[in-house]
Amino acid sequence: MRLLEQQNFKNERAVIRVDFNVPLNEELEVTDKTRIQAAKPTIEYILSQGGSCVLLSHLGRPEGRDPKLSLEHIVSEASSVLGLNVNFCRHVVGDKAEEQAAALKPGEVLLMENLRYHKEETKGDEVFAQQLARLGTVYVNDAFGTAHRAHASTTIMAKYFEGKKSFGSLLASEVKAIEKVIKDGESPVVAILGGAKVSSKITIIESLLDKVDHLIIGGGMVYTFTKAQGGTVGNSICEPDYCDYALELLEKAKAKGVEIHLPVDVIAGDDFSDDANQKVFESNNIADGWEGLDAGPKSCETFHQLILKCKTILWNGPLGVFEFPNFAQGTISIGESIGEATKSGAFSLVGGGDSVAAVKQFGLASRMSYISTGGGAMLESLEGKILPGIAALNE
Ligand code: AMP
Repeated sequence: MRLLEQQNFKNERAVIRVDFNVPLNEELEVTDKTRIQAAKPTIEYILSQGGSCVLLSHLGRPEGRDPKLSLEHIVSEASSVLGLNVNFCRHVVGDKAEEQAAALKPGEVLLMENLRYHKEETKGDEVFAQQLARLGTVYVNDAFGTAHRAHASTTIMAKYFEGKKSFGSLLASEVKAIEKVIKDGESPVVAILGGAKVSSKITIIESLLDKVDHLIIGGGMVYTFTKAQGGTVGNSICEPDYCDYALELLEKAKAKGVEIHLPVDVIAGDDFSDDANQKVFESNNIADGWEGLDAGPKSCETFHQLILKCKTILWNGPLGVFEFPNFAQGTISIGESIGEATKSGAFSLVGGGDSVAAVKQFGLASRMSYISTGGGAMLESLEGKILPGIAALNE
C-alpha cells in the first residue's frame, strides 16, 4: 500500500477522488458532513506539503446535468470544514476544466463538478479517464465508498499515474481496519450479522466462516434458520427457498468449528408497525398473527456475555426493525455490548449502511473502534474480493 507519506507533493497538483456524496435537504443544504470531514486529513496533508488539490466526486445518481445534484451545493460546507476557500469548477473535463486546474497555486483547492454528469464515469470510459488524468500531476484515491466500482475516476485513471499514485489516509485506514478483522484479528473473533434477508448475505456469511470463531445471526434472517430447523415463525419475514441453504450453512459452520448463535427469544408484534402490541416468544415457536421484529431479552444477555469474551468484533446489520423505536432495543443492546468490549480492549469494526445509521442514531459511534464509510465496498472486502479501486493503486 503506497501511503501519502511516500509521495512528494511539493508543487504537485494532486487530483484526489473523494467521496462527497453527502445528503442534501430540500433547500439543497448539506445535512451530514461526515464524508467531507473524513476527506480533510488527506487534503490538509497535501496542502501542508506544498501541493494543491483538485477534488473529484460524484453526488447522487443524476440523469444528465441535474442542477439539484451540482457539487456547487457542497462548496460552502467544504470551505467551512477545511477552513479555507474552496474554488469551484463548473466543468469536469475539457479545456476550461484543465485551464482552471492548471492555474491552481500551492495551498489552493478546486472542486470539480459532479463526475456523474458524464455517463462515461460509471462506464469506466478510457478517454474520459484520460481527460480526468490531465487535471493533475499526481493521483490520490480517498473514496472507499466507491472503491468497489471500476469507474473512470475510481480505477481507470490510476494507470496514467505510474509511480505517482497513492492511498489517501481515509482509504488506507479503511483497508487497515478490515485487515485487522479478517486477516490479523485477535481471537476470539465474532461477527454479528443482522438485517432483513439471508439471500442478500450469503456470500458474506460463507466467507466469514473461514475467518471467525463465532457468528451471531440476528434480524429478519433468524426466521429462515428457525423454520429450516422445524420451528414455527408466524408472520415473520422468512425465505422458505433458503431453508435448505440455512441448514447447509449450519453444517458447514460445524465442520469449520464456528459456533453459530441465533436468538433464543424474540420480541414479536401483531403488526409491522411501531405501535403494534408486543409479546416475547421463543424464536422457534412464534404464534400465528405475530411477527418477530427484535431480539428478545434472554438473547441480548447471551450475546452480551459472548461479545465481552471476544477480542475482535465485526458488526453488520441491525438486530431488529430499529427504525421503530419500540423494536430497537436489541440493536441498541448489541451496540452497547460492543461498546463495553471495545472499552476493555477489543477491536470493533462497524459497517454497512443500516448498522452505521443505527450506531449514530443511538449515540454509540464514539464507543466503536472503527466505523466504515463504505457499505458495499466493506461487504465486498469482507467477502475476500480485491476491490478494483485498490488494485489499480497497487498496480
Ligand atoms: P439489510 O439492508 O439487509 O442490512 O437490512 C436492514 C433492514 O433489516 C432494516 O431496515 C431493518 O428494519 C430490517 N430488519 C431487521 N430485523 C428485521 C425483522 N425481524 N423483520 C423485518 N425486517 C427486519
